Amino acid sequence: MDASDSRPLPVVGMVGAGQLARMTHQAAIALGQSLRVLAADPGDPAALVTPDVRPGRPTDLDALRAFARGTSAVTFDHEQVPQENLRALVAEGVRVHPGPDALLHAQDKLVMRRRLAAMGVPVPAFAEVGAPADVERFAAGHGPRVVLKAVRGGYDGRGVWLLDGPAPELVEELLAAGTPLMVEAAVPMRRELAAQVARSPYGQAAAWPVVETVQEDGQCVQVLVPAPGLDEDVAAGAQQLALRLAAELGVTGLLAVELFERTDGVLVVNELAMRPHNSGHWTIEGARTSQFEQHLRAVLDYPLGATTTTAPAVVMANVLGAAEPPAMSVDERLHHLFARFPDVKVHVYGKAERPARKVGHVTALGADMADVRRRAALAAAWLSTAEWPDGWSEHTGAPEREAQHV
Ligand code: ADP
Repeated sequence: MDASDSRPLPVVGMVGAGQLARMTHQAAIALGQSLRVLAADPGDPAALVTPDVRPGRPTDLDALRAFARGTSAVTFDHEQVPQENLRALVAEGVRVHPGPDALLHAQDKLVMRRRLAAMGVPVPAFAEVGAPADVERFAAGHGPRVVLKAVRGGYDGRGVWLLDGPAPELVEELLAAGTPLMVEAAVPMRRELAAQVARSPYGQAAAWPVVETVQEDGQCVQVLVPAPGLDEDVAAGAQQLALRLAAELGVTGLLAVELFERTDGVLVVNELAMRPHNSGHWTIEGARTSQFEQHLRAVLDYPLGATTTTAPAVVMANVLGAAEPPAMSVDERLHHLFARFPDVKVHVYGKAERPARKVGHVTALGADMADVRRRAALAAAWLSTAEWPDGWSEHTGAPEREAQHV
């Protein structure tokens, strides 16, 4: 099993070189493979650590072709890949996972909503928007609070506008700029959940426990595993739904189903992602098989790995760039973090710190969800801001408030 083997181990090509590709690369090493990445920028997180970097953008078919040559499978770190280019690769014999027909449902929110509604899957009420009047009509029936969405290209809440009414000027402006739009009913919700599964071309599938994704400003900040207090039957139903969607849409690789838990307890589907997903980062330490390894196994049609958890409570917290990047270096922040929390695991993505940008994540594991969540939140806040929200002082080893009384 070494590089001199006349039957070399497979090369998986990943379109995009962000943090998802970077963490997939780590999993590929353990499987004896090498990941090849198509990187738009040599400074991208995966391009910094992967030896097999092909420069190029997925909009460039020739770059995609050259990148795909010699790979066992091509897969994705993001969805921004033109359908026609994927179809050209498939026609030329490249194994693309997920294939373009499935991926379309993660690229186009309107196609996805229509397909899921036709399948009888609960989704928010929605309508296509071709003019401001469409939003007015929709808001009259489902509003006044509605959610305007870019049909394609949004991520981390960019491309989502929560409105208190029709907002004709905004709609006009976006349409004039060429942004295809849709409108949805604002879902009254308790919280957001995610169900993640993997499916191989052979048709084997595996599901991880359903998680809660805690959101702030339209962006996920924490993932709680398992989703606290979620009814067992509801959780099993969400897993079944994700498995059904993976099978019926023909997904190969990973599928994350983002869900809203409505105030009446009903789950409705928000979004689909067909790649490693932020809601699955916890699996690196918190599950027997990480989402990154599972994705590789799935796209190579290997049997899938066990998805059981390694601790009763797991919390992943994103490290977001602070409003003002702290003067303290990341290196020094890590020193202090590890001194306080020897058990918290850190993943730094190698990205420049910009406000609210995901630059890394932390994972804490344990027996008690409240304690695990507290440690993950403190660790992430410290790495973001170089300040402990609870006033901990690294000099006294005690919260400053208490230290003053000593
Ligand atoms: P993105 O593709 O940018 O992740 P999403 O469609 O997931 O966008 O929306 C981002 C966030 O906006 C969601 O996580 C949720 O908090 C909020 N949101 C989206 N759609 C709705 C809706 N129909 N009702 C209420 N909140 C919504």
